[in-house]
Amino acid sequence: MTVTALSDPVLGELRQILGDEHVLTGKADRLNRARVPAPFPVHRWAERLPDLVVMPGSTEEVAEVLKLANRLRVPVVPRDGGTGLTDGAVPLRGGILVDVKRLNHIKDLDLDNRTCTVGTGINALKLNERLAVHDLIYPDDPASYPCSLVGGRIGTSGWSLIGSRYGHTRDLVLSFDHVLPSGQVIHVGDGIGRKITKSSSGYQLKHLFMGHQGTLGIATEATLKLFPKPEAEFSPFWAFSDYADAYRCVGLLARAGVATFAGAVLFDEWKVAYLRRDDEAYIPQPSSVKALVCAALYGYADEVEAGGRRLMRIARDAGARYLGDEISQGDWAARHDRYATPLHGRTKSGQVAPMSWHCEDASINYTNLPSVRLAWHEIADRLRRESDVFDDWGMFAYTNGATGADYLTEIDIGIWEQRLDDRTWAAWVRAKRDLAAVALAHGGSISACHGSCREGEVDLVPQELGGGFEVMLQIKRALDPHNIMNPGKYLLDQAYGAPS
Ligand SMILES: Cc1cc2nc3c(=O)[nH]c(=O)nc-3n(C[C@H](O)[C@H](O)[C@H](O)COP(=O)(O)OP(=O)(O)OC[C@H]3O[C@@H](n4cnc5c(N)ncnc54)[C@H](O)[C@@H]3O)c2cc1C
Repeated sequence: MTVTALSDPVLGELRQILGDEHVLTGKADRLNRARVPAPFPVHRWAERLPDLVVMPGSTEEVAEVLKLANRLRVPVVPRDGGTGLTDGAVPLRGGILVDVKRLNHIKDLDLDNRTCTVGTGINALKLNERLAVHDLIYPDDPASYPCSLVGGRIGTSGWSLIGSRYGHTRDLVLSFDHVLPSGQVIHVGDGIGRKITKSSSGYQLKHLFMGHQGTLGIATEATLKLFPKPEAEFSPFWAFSDYADAYRCVGLLARAGVATFAGAVLFDEWKVAYLRRDDEAYIPQPSSVKALVCAALYGYADEVEAGGRRLMRIARDAGARYLGDEISQGDWAARHDRYATPLHGRTKSGQVAPMSWHCEDASINYTNLPSVRLAWHEIADRLRRESDVFDDWGMFAYTNGATGADYLTEIDIGIWEQRLDDRTWAAWVRAKRDLAAVALAHGGSISACHGSCREGEVDLVPQELGGGFEVMLQIKRALDPHNIMNPGKYLLDQAYGAPS
């Protein structure tokens, strides 16, 4: 559908619902809403434009837009910060893009029940600036902290760097208003109020409406859990001359059961080499350093100090070399901009080339990290042999939870975008499928964090979900009979008879 295909009466109705200034049809407005950090396929991203953009100011307006779209069978794509890494917010079939950034209010701050209710267009950085005066924090802390918004965190079921202490988005969002594809507004969460953390009544619908990538409707207002602003943080960084020692160490740290432990991350040889070579934000370590481990502890000063001492002892006994306070604090402080910095990589001959960041993530059990790492680097190596537009930027593995059972595991690939064509893009799609297959063969999940909407990875979603995928199709068909919500994502067209 093109912009002219959305007829004057549709535009007229939308303008009546939202006011003229909140219905945008200009090319720049639409192009800006098709932009994402690592678009797919990057050399053809301009083909994926919405016909128009609406910026609703209330749940009621969102509901009216969806009623109209449902009546006229027009595709709708919700968009928050547009930082998603699986192209969830990219329209595959044009239609109406619902940009929720005007829903950025703080409606209620309840200091006694330790909750706040916000529009889903707000981000955690802005929210935390407001909470700081009350010594409170909303601890959803992705590397995209300054630019991802609450609704996108819900739409992706996001992962937080300090999730081992405070939980991830699914744990931190207590309840929310959700507009179904029909335009009906429901409230999901525990209990009839907004602020209950546990109930046993009925299905746990909150989880159904998280991580659906906008395919089941739009979250408009959310109630969030708040915590005391941590008095202290400690983020020790250690160097190792061997990956195996660093791997053993990260496992010991995560399993130690220290209450203030917020997470630990392991950087492998490829990642250390890449940082040393091409990441200007990183303080280079000598070439004898082959792997790095970082941990983070949050809480009151006395408990962080005690926990920190224990983790330092564990790391030292595991052969770690502490890198000192300056590097430790500096690196942790840069956690929100690390991935925005890389702008170049290297060809096979070592020549600097303008490249941008693409990545693939998975959830992998601790015991499987070493073999997944080797298999993934082999796939990256094959890519490099196939074409000189790819560079292996290394891997990290980050605790998913306090017990250290599984890790968000990511491989970063630099792509020289100006040199891409359909052949090299097909090689990347094949590589993504192979990376996902390795994760499944090791009993993991294709994605801990970003979701799995894109070509390559999405092909294996039915395999990961088994019979659950058929249930997913039934739910989609029942709630969105006309397939208006973000059509084309997650193989959900199969719910409407498309070939599998
Ligand atoms: C530098 C960088 C670092 C990152 N680090 C992390 C990280 O540490 N942890 C992590 O989890 N992710 C990370 N990401 C990925 C991304 O930031 C997350 O997926 C984030 O949750 C997306 O939020 P957003 O507001 O940008 O959503 P968008 O990209 O706008 O949308 C994401 C998905 O949610 C849907 N959606 C948007 N709004 C709504 C709504 N109101 N209701 C229902 N569905 C909606 C969209 O249709 C889309 O499918 C990173 C990305 C970048 C660029």
